Amino acid sequence: MSTTLVTGATGFIAGHVIDDLLAHGHRVRATVRSLRDPARTAHLRALADGMGGDLEFVEADLLDDAGWAAAVDGCENVLHVASPFPPTPPRDAEALVKPAVDGTMRVLRASEAAGARRVVVTSSVAAVSTGRARGDGRVRDEADWTDPDRAAPYARSKTLAERAVWRFAEEHPGVDVVAINPGLVLGPIQHAAAGTSMTTVRRLLGHEIPAVPAIGFAPVDVRDIATAHRRALEVPRAAGNRYVCAGPNVWFGEMAEILREEFGPLGYRVPTAHMPYWLLWVLARFDREVRLGLDFVGSPELVNSAKAAAELGLTLRPVRETLVDTGRSLIDHGLVTPR
Ligand code: NAP
Repeated sequence: MSTTLVTGATGFIAGHVIDDLLAHGHRVRATVRSLRDPARTAHLRALADGMGGDLEFVEADLLDDAGWAAAVDGCENVLHVASPFPPTPPRDAEALVKPAVDGTMRVLRASEAAGARRVVVTSSVAAVSTGRARGDGRVRDEADWTDPDRAAPYARSKTLAERAVWRFAEEHPGVDVVAINPGLVLGPIQHAAAGTSMTTVRRLLGHEIPAVPAIGFAPVDVRDIATAHRRALEVPRAAGNRYVCAGPNVWFGEMAEILREEFGPLGYRVPTAHMPYWLLWVLARFDREVRLGLDFVGSPELVNSAKAAAELGLTLRPVRETLVDTGRSLIDHGLVTPR
């Protein structure tokens, strides 16, 4: 089997994508910003060794041309997963937009020059609908786009990056391009690092917030997202398409109930009382992680994954299974303790 490139190997989603590809016999080359700290990829080396998989790492930064040509050289398939997803919004949106957009263009140009067959880009439902805009009760799908000029920095970066992908695809028909648009990605972590999408579960389980704001997201399991990326490579008709991959809206209160049922008996005091908007607003003045939530209060995330089900054959795990596995892995890796 030919080599498949995965960008951003140190990330939560890319780690599972690599695991899934190795398990399906792919030879994988994976990019990291720097090879100087082998501890950051030790879990992946162990995983590859455990299954006799073929995995190598190369250096490439989204902000730099260096390394991309060599990274893609000889790869038939490219999965471009890397993009900054920080837990707190930056002061300047450009800090996210530049690596997201310029980095994606670097990957696409290098892929085309190397003769790659297909490039799958990890976009987001943040490029479909976001923040207050989603409060109109309409279910969004692949036909919908976030207005980047009315979006917070992260959603702006994902929207502009995906727009750039489709512009490139139009101008360069030689490369097949597919976009995967996940909802809030949860699920087991592979090593002791909890990324941004773990924030809510980590804070609920660790009792780091006193009550639960009326915020909802459409979660999806990271293992299902890994499958979606692989299928996006395998399914011929996927070329030229974006795929929303997310379950139904789940309010933080519903997540808290599930976590309390499962982990309450183990001593985890998961808050379930409702947090009024004014209290969230006050907390957000001191806590930049909480600030991210302000835009989402009261508006459910309603998206439709029927296209991914029909065309990629994707079936999503029940959210309870995902939440319980997320909580268990955060506990097992020592990232939350009972309070
Ligand atoms: P993550 O764990 O924070 O991973 C992000 C990855 O991007 C890391 O490997 C990071 O490398 C890399 N990266 C950031 N800036 C870079 C740069 N300048 N050059 C090279 N690499 C860079 O986030 P994730 O949750 O796995 O997200 C992965 C992708 O999925 C992103 O495109 C994100 O937008 C998208 N997504 C995530 C979710 C979600 O809920 N998690 C939902 C929808 C879409 P370092 O480790 O060196 O920082």
